[in-house]
Amino acid sequence: MKTNHPSGKSGMDLLRDPRWNKGTAFTREEREAYGILGLLPDIVSTPETQTKRIEAHIASLPRDIDKYIYLADLQERNLTIYYRILMGDPVTYMPIVYTPTVGEACQTFGRNYRRPQGIYITLRHRGKMKQVLRNWPEPNVQFITVTDGERILGLGDLGAQGMGIPIGKLALYTAVAGVPPHLTLPIALDVGTNNEELLNDPLYIGLAQNRIVGTEYDNFIDEFVESVKDVFPGCTIQWEDFANHHAAEILEQYRHRVCSFNDDIQGTAGVGVSGIMTATRCKGERLQDQTYLFFGAGSAGIGIADLLCTAMEREGLTREEAQHRCWLVDSKGLVTSSRTDLTPAKLRYANKPGETLSLEDAVRELGVTVLLGTSTIPGSFTQPIIEQMARNTERPIIFPYSNPTSKSECTAEQAYTWSGGKAIFASGSPFPPFEYDGKTLTPSQGNNVYIFPAMGLAVLAAKPTTIPDEAFSVAARALSGMVTQEMFDSGVVYPPLTRIRESAHVVATAVAEYFFDSGLATVERPADVGAFVADKSYKPDY
Ligand code: NAD
Repeated sequence: MKTNHPSGKSGMDLLRDPRWNKGTAFTREEREAYGILGLLPDIVSTPETQTKRIEAHIASLPRDIDKYIYLADLQERNLTIYYRILMGDPVTYMPIVYTPTVGEACQTFGRNYRRPQGIYITLRHRGKMKQVLRNWPEPNVQFITVTDGERILGLGDLGAQGMGIPIGKLALYTAVAGVPPHLTLPIALDVGTNNEELLNDPLYIGLAQNRIVGTEYDNFIDEFVESVKDVFPGCTIQWEDFANHHAAEILEQYRHRVCSFNDDIQGTAGVGVSGIMTATRCKGERLQDQTYLFFGAGSAGIGIADLLCTAMEREGLTREEAQHRCWLVDSKGLVTSSRTDLTPAKLRYANKPGETLSLEDAVRELGVTVLLGTSTIPGSFTQPIIEQMARNTERPIIFPYSNPTSKSECTAEQAYTWSGGKAIFASGSPFPPFEYDGKTLTPSQGNNVYIFPAMGLAVLAAKPTTIPDEAFSVAARALSGMVTQEMFDSGVVYPPLTRIRESAHVVATAVAEYFFDSGLATVERPADVGAFVADKSYKPDY
């Protein structure tokens, strides 16, 4: 006798729905009830057996990209087992479903394309974006990650093939913080591409035309935001991998019109500031006691500088006083008020007139104590620069954040060796532990994954009207609070990635509390915010 499944589906339709499919874990009673008798082999598996079977298969695949493709298929077959695997061992699987493997996945997206895992909104959809969004099978989308594909990781313009990024990133929101996957939606805005290789590739999956610009682009983004607000009320938008010339502008333009944030700017800032908070606290100093130099004044560098100023304001400085402790060096040298080529964002840090010094001269003349690299220029933190940092202060903070490893401003080994073992080091890409003077120093990785999944869960739980920068400062402080002096003494400024799920819960709870305290939350404050946040978190069980 057939009875209804909660999804309303039965038979092959049920087996083909990744959210509800249990595969061989459907019991004999369920098989009878839902019209799937005979559509499965005889065995009734436990989720544990299913997980083991699939993990063994993944382990047997030779290349990470093969594992990526296999996992993408699994995500389309059985969401529960997909997330059991990711959540069971995020340290192993994050580099496969997201960076670095997702970079290659995006480059070959056209060749490996199988099924729609999100929505493509193209220029052909102007005037009917609401209709496009309504085609998504889940009516209650609460969280969107969207890219226009113009600056995918360090790979540049990948057009519609950038879709791999929102898909992978949303998988981490769930795997790390438990953001319920059925409430999320990856979106690629296909506004063309200027990538000649893709334009000439017959297997390119996107619109084969150049990117639209100016008002035409602005209007496209505007229709997108208004459509999301209409079709998915209360939905948060996370902007991802937009080019530098659009990222900050879009964030500022929309952050008060729709609950939204940009991880490249604000998530990076959160993790960067958290590392600096830990390093200064464990040195027994304050944020305001440092002189900061940001080498590379793009989205990441200026994002970190801005949030650092917000955190210094909390220490009692005025915004102007905080900005005076931060210096930028861009491709033309030190940013000073004598320069005539500065954007408004850079002008905030043009602290004095004067000549455009090189990085080495600036580190010496300004007495820099914290040096942060987001320049993508490998090897730019040279031996003389690091030696000078070690003369400027007892424990220099040196964070080469450029990715991948080949773009890092210096290696961990260089920072430790040239500073005589004094450097407090964190990088964008991981470096192995290093033996110095009989002591093992463990470099930290300033991975945004410490911040963005937790922010996503906090936003879903508290439903704030807007996400002020202060929320990222709160996240940074909560993350920093997880690092003990003992951990710091071994070299690290972040909790180990093996504890990522625990740290996500701590950070999400702190941020949700901030939303309730500041009156931004639109749901009633629960008695126990931590339990409330945990309760909102997805559990990969049938
Ligand atoms: P971006 O393109 O916005 O900024 C890069 C900046 O570096 C630009 O402003 C560019 O002018 C500047 N630059 C180029 N050549 C330079 C030179 N010779 N001297 C000084 N500056 C120079 O990119 P972004 O989003 O800011 O990212 C920058 C880097 O930071 C990337 O490698 C990215 O992977 C990395 N990043 C790391 C993390 C992390 O580890 N958590 C997060 C975000 C970004």
